[in-house]
Amino acid sequence: MNIKMDKNYYFSDEVYMLNNYETLAELLFPDITKTPEDYENIYPPRPLREGARVTRFAPSPTGYLHIGGLFGALTDVLTARATGGVSFLRIEDTDKKREIDDGVSAIIEGFRAFGVEFDEGVTGFGTEKGDYGPYTQSRRAEIYQTIAKSLVKKGLAYPCFCTSDELSAMRDEQENSGALIRGYFGKWAKCRNLTLDEIKKNLADGKPWTLRFRSDGSDDKKVIFDDIIRGKIEMPENTIDEVILKSDGIPTYHFAHVCDDHFMRTTHVIRGEEWISSTPKHIALFKACGYKVPKYAHTPQVMKLDGDDGNKRKLSKRKDPEAAVSYFVEKGIPKESLIEYLLTLLNSNFEDWRRANPGANVFSFPFNLKKMSSSGCLFDLVKLTDISKNIISEMNGETVLARTLEWAETYDKELFDLMDRDRAYTLGILSIDRDCPKPRKDIAMWSQVKDYIPYFYDELYHPEYFLPGSVTSEDAKAIIDKYIEIYDENDDKDAWFAKIKDMCAPLGFTPNVKEYKKNPELFKGHVGDVSSVIRVAVTSRTNTPDLCSIMKLLGRDKVIKRLKTFREEI
Ligand code: GLU
Repeated sequence: MNIKMDKNYYFSDEVYMLNNYETLAELLFPDITKTPEDYENIYPPRPLREGARVTRFAPSPTGYLHIGGLFGALTDVLTARATGGVSFLRIEDTDKKREIDDGVSAIIEGFRAFGVEFDEGVTGFGTEKGDYGPYTQSRRAEIYQTIAKSLVKKGLAYPCFCTSDELSAMRDEQENSGALIRGYFGKWAKCRNLTLDEIKKNLADGKPWTLRFRSDGSDDKKVIFDDIIRGKIEMPENTIDEVILKSDGIPTYHFAHVCDDHFMRTTHVIRGEEWISSTPKHIALFKACGYKVPKYAHTPQVMKLDGDDGNKRKLSKRKDPEAAVSYFVEKGIPKESLIEYLLTLLNSNFEDWRRANPGANVFSFPFNLKKMSSSGCLFDLVKLTDISKNIISEMNGETVLARTLEWAETYDKELFDLMDRDRAYTLGILSIDRDCPKPRKDIAMWSQVKDYIPYFYDELYHPEYFLPGSVTSEDAKAIIDKYIEIYDENDDKDAWFAKIKDMCAPLGFTPNVKEYKKNPELFKGHVGDVSSVIRVAVTSRTNTPDLCSIMKLLGRDKVIKRLKTFREEI
């Protein structure tokens, strides 16, 4: 008897068919002895309170963490924290093409560098924590095969013996005929109705097979799901008989994540918007397996402005160095700054919360997926830099010293050695204009420290001799001569400035800026010009932190030497 294995024949001889499915399942998976129920017992529902959300971040081990990945992971961690739930890191390594050797460490390092901590999951190359593991898909083959076997038993999956040539011929034909739905379905699904005998023969002939999902979807029916970020999404049902196990027994992403999210008891699948189009497929698989469909939240992409015409495009791994999280590590952007900035992108009410809770730990922010925008968010390096300057300006000198040294030890050995040589001196430098009501905001990242302090170190100091503003060489010389006469390294800030003011009138300058603005023709300049000459002579810069403090750190000999050299050079 030639019994077909399609559901259309199902009712004609149900018991016979089920027996065939059983036989087929044993034929395909002779070594699988566990049942889905065994895994239900191994991974029981999590004992969490009502409303607690279980989220996961699930990258492929590509050795690269995209800023969009950090953005997504933050969404997972904050969602779980805000609801008393659990977040975990799962490595999805079923696509060998995307994988590189130890592609996990770089991802973990990226998270570690920015203080993003998952409650469970992979913690390093070959290490993990949590009761719902293994958290690496390649170590879960038996689970997938057990579930696949159960689908075969229910007639919901079947082996496909089509070769890659046959499949690519199918794709060409579909493309040439302009088919609206493309893939393995309907008349294209040649193996869907193979008889048990035909399958047995193919297996006996050693033909490789993949396992396909037997879809019962119909494209004139809709699948509707509520996306927490985007609201109701309506799409045609899935009709494609997707591959769920590849010929080597490794699952595809579609199937693997369904099994994993069920057994890891994920409540909320938060993932990039590029997965929206596959969601009907995933919902069909969850249902076929008898699992509760999780809630979905598809996050927007991280974009950047492209050119001057206001066009946006996705931050690209190939074109944009700032697409990689490692870029911010290398630049020395403090973790607080990047996370703070990403939060402003993630939730529209974050900035209000921050104003109301200055100094609160960012991870205590009551994050709400509903407040996430569904359109691509613009990654703005300038805004990040501003946020970072504020954050660093609030750190004390000790912190800035420790954090810069930590960064420089890896990324700028010369700077590290200079700063490490005399830590008290370096601390003095980094403490100028800090811990005060209006701290300066010069530094946004540790890689900028070197350019902030060069005049403190002879090795870094390559002075240029120039005259600030409209001061003439004659006047500059007179200012320097006078200043050398009255300079006293023991003067405090007030005494120092009083002296600068006193110098003004005899040299034709005014100590009073307002007065100068009223009658500029009466003076050569004002007190600001006088101090600028001294500043440029000592630091070769027109803008520095407090000059009196700088000179104290440099010491008398160096200051006098610089003043004299400047006088000679101009
Ligand atoms: N492994 C998938 C990726 O790397 C993750 C998709 C998901 O989060 O479900 O894109």
